[in-house]
Amino acid sequence: MARVNKALLVCLGLSLGALSSGQSVAQARPVAGPASVPALPPGQVQPVAPGTRAARAVPTLTLSPAIPQVRQVQYLGNGFIEVAHAIVTVNPAERMKLRALAQQVVAATFAARPRLNEVDISIYSAETYAGFGGPLPLMTASVPRSREQDFDLWVTDRVPYDRVWVNPGHLPAYEAPDRVREAVPKVTLGHETSLENQARREGGLLGGLLFHSKNASSPVAALTFDDAPHPMYEPLLLDLLRRAGVRATFFVIGRNAAAYPYFIRDMTESGHEVGNHTYHHLRLPPLTSVKMLDEIQQANAAIERITGEPVKYFRPPGGEYDAQVLAAARVLGLTTVFWTDDPGDFQNPGDALLESRLRTKLRPGGIVLLHDNASEMLSILQSFLRTARYRGFTLTTVGGLPKY
Ligand SMILES: [Zn+2]
Repeated sequence: MARVNKALLVCLGLSLGALSSGQSVAQARPVAGPASVPALPPGQVQPVAPGTRAARAVPTLTLSPAIPQVRQVQYLGNGFIEVAHAIVTVNPAERMKLRALAQQVVAATFAARPRLNEVDISIYSAETYAGFGGPLPLMTASVPRSREQDFDLWVTDRVPYDRVWVNPGHLPAYEAPDRVREAVPKVTLGHETSLENQARREGGLLGGLLFHSKNASSPVAALTFDDAPHPMYEPLLLDLLRRAGVRATFFVIGRNAAAYPYFIRDMTESGHEVGNHTYHHLRLPPLTSVKMLDEIQQANAAIERITGEPVKYFRPPGGEYDAQVLAAARVLGLTTVFWTDDPGDFQNPGDALLESRLRTKLRPGGIVLLHDNASEMLSILQSFLRTARYRGFTLTTVGGLPKY
């Protein structure tokens, strides 16, 4: 209850007595919780849905001489630049030397592959490390090659450096994220209001819901990326969008925004929009109303602390919502944004199929859903953006849709 404003609960018409007894106002359904999902191997960046293809293997670097705390260094290119992400784990005795260790790893990674444009690093506690979706790192940093000296000065002389984050130790407690893949938007209470049906059918903003723009005459569509930010994919994706002159909306996971704040700043400085995708990436309908509000509020707070701007847009993980989710978002002043085009990049369908789905479904007023950390998305994005431009489409942010 501590993080949830009681006034908001009153707005939602909720009984505080029921909430304090732990009951959910929305009818809770039996769902497969995170415990039923196998843990990801370290370094794997996305789950593989049953029956879908495995993600393409991401190449790794070997540092020489080896640094014992380094678990893995992955690297990837986007056709223009290459970025590496080093995953480091430390024991309690090594926590006092994080800066020096980070400097050593960054230097060794640049040395291992001279063509790298940037090295990002995430240092975790060895005791609790459980991959990217596990407990947050102790420290993260992003070091473009041109900023290596600035990073060194932060390490040696404590000169402020803007692309580093040190875990303050008082963030919301860890919760395993639901590994849900965005699919067709699902209403889990089994009944839709006429307003929701109208919003789906006609488009436009109705009751705080946006499925697509009402304006189908202008060749403008929104480009959205879920599950951001990720320390290897983010700089590659932002670089491609910058080169194409395209702005997009990123639905970010609050805890990852907190741990990699410099990527959120990169987004806003490039004119992108930052939306709310909950704090822990939890499916919302099974949660109590208190927990549901808390998830959305915490993500808002994490984003606003970085951007200084109120968050406008919200997308529920997995597209799963019910009346309580919609009410919570509305009370918090958020527009709940769905999509018209989900090409399934998270299922790794193959570059050709992914791109053909995107080309086929592109429509005026539409909202394209892609994922921040899907390698096939990165492979085909440049080509898709070029195709859209040739067809006269402007891809933009959700807020950039005409008269939505
Ligand atoms: Zn998601």
